Amino acid sequence: MKSDVYLIEVKTNDLEARRESLQKLLEKISPFKDYKKDEFIPVKLTIGDSQCVYNIHPELVKTIVSEIKKSKAKPFLFDTNVIYKGERLNAVDHLTLAQSKGFGHAKVGAPFIIADGAFGQDGKEYAIDSDYIKKIKIPSFIGFMDNLLVLSHATGHILSGYAGAIKNVGMGMVSKPTKQVQHSSLKPHVMNKKCAACGCCIKICPAQAISFKEKKAFVDQAKCLGCGECLPACKFDAIFINWSEDHDIFAKRLIDVAGFILSKFKNKFFMTFGFDITKECDCISTKDEKIFSENIGILASKDPIAIDKAIVDLINKDKDVFKKTGLLDTHKTMFEYGCKKGLGNIDYNLIKI
Ligand code: SF4
Ligand code: SF4
Repeated sequence: MKSDVYLIEVKTNDLEARRESLQKLLEKISPFKDYKKDEFIPVKLTIGDSQCVYNIHPELVKTIVSEIKKSKAKPFLFDTNVIYKGERLNAVDHLTLAQSKGFGHAKVGAPFIIADGAFGQDGKEYAIDSDYIKKIKIPSFIGFMDNLLVLSHATGHILSGYAGAIKNVGMGMVSKPTKQVQHSSLKPHVMNKKCAACGCCIKICPAQAISFKEKKAFVDQAKCLGCGECLPACKFDAIFINWSEDHDIFAKRLIDVAGFILSKFKNKFFMTFGFDITKECDCISTKDEKIFSENIGILASKDPIAIDKAIVDLINKDKDVFKKTGLLDTHKTMFEYGCKKGLGNIDYNLIKI
């Protein structure tokens, strides 16, 4: 079985031309026509970090919000906090950044919320059926609404190779402790130099795995559950994350988490913006970031695997551009495993608008 993926080709860098193409796509496929009056519509996106200039432009988000509002539904934008340094590490800085990057309510027409709380620790825990991750913590509103709209900027990614719809859900819709667990099977360590001995990690650790040793926090690896709770607890950036996770396990974990999250929504819709496709994702990229593909356009689908696979194929054409750019091909595992787990289809019909 093949999934439908809609594509409106847009090669230009002109914002108004991009916006007009988006409007045309929305008019042709009417993806929001079944939204009901007063129904809350969560719209997942990332605003990119402070140095990133290639994230989805707020004007395009505004166009989508306006279109949703025609159905009298109530859209709201959301993201979660990240686990590395930057201005999205906590909700206060994250919301301030959103305002300064043009994602304020007055500009886009919908509120932006940080779904995992002030420091990324909030959420509801679930046990999931996966060989790669047993327990996840996700924003507690998940499970209360029927619809989900996921807006992604197509980029490369240091671990997943390609980052789009699947990564936006599997990593972008979990609370901080789960992000840490997803990034590393290994237990956290404390960097003595940075530890201010505030004791916050000790207080929060559910396994009593942390104690002071020579006036610095120390993680007992035998007791540690790898839950990641200590990471957001540390305001001194002293908890060390291992980034060298096995890539295929990272991909499978991402799929299992995304699959669980998506199972909580009846109707899912994914839109991917294939503009300014950078080697690094929007968490890391800057204005000097390398753009490794020509502009593709805007894709839309109900299938997260098909939309990701389609844009990777469009970027690659007849050669592996990801490989040439020095990116991993982890996304191939993601697509195959995601298909096997019933998250979507690798095969798709590309319908050009
Ligand atoms: S990961 Fe969890 S169990 Fe391990 S030290 Fe941190 S809080 Fe404690
Ligand atoms: S929270 Fe951070 S700074 Fe405070 S004791 Fe733990 S590791 Fe040290």
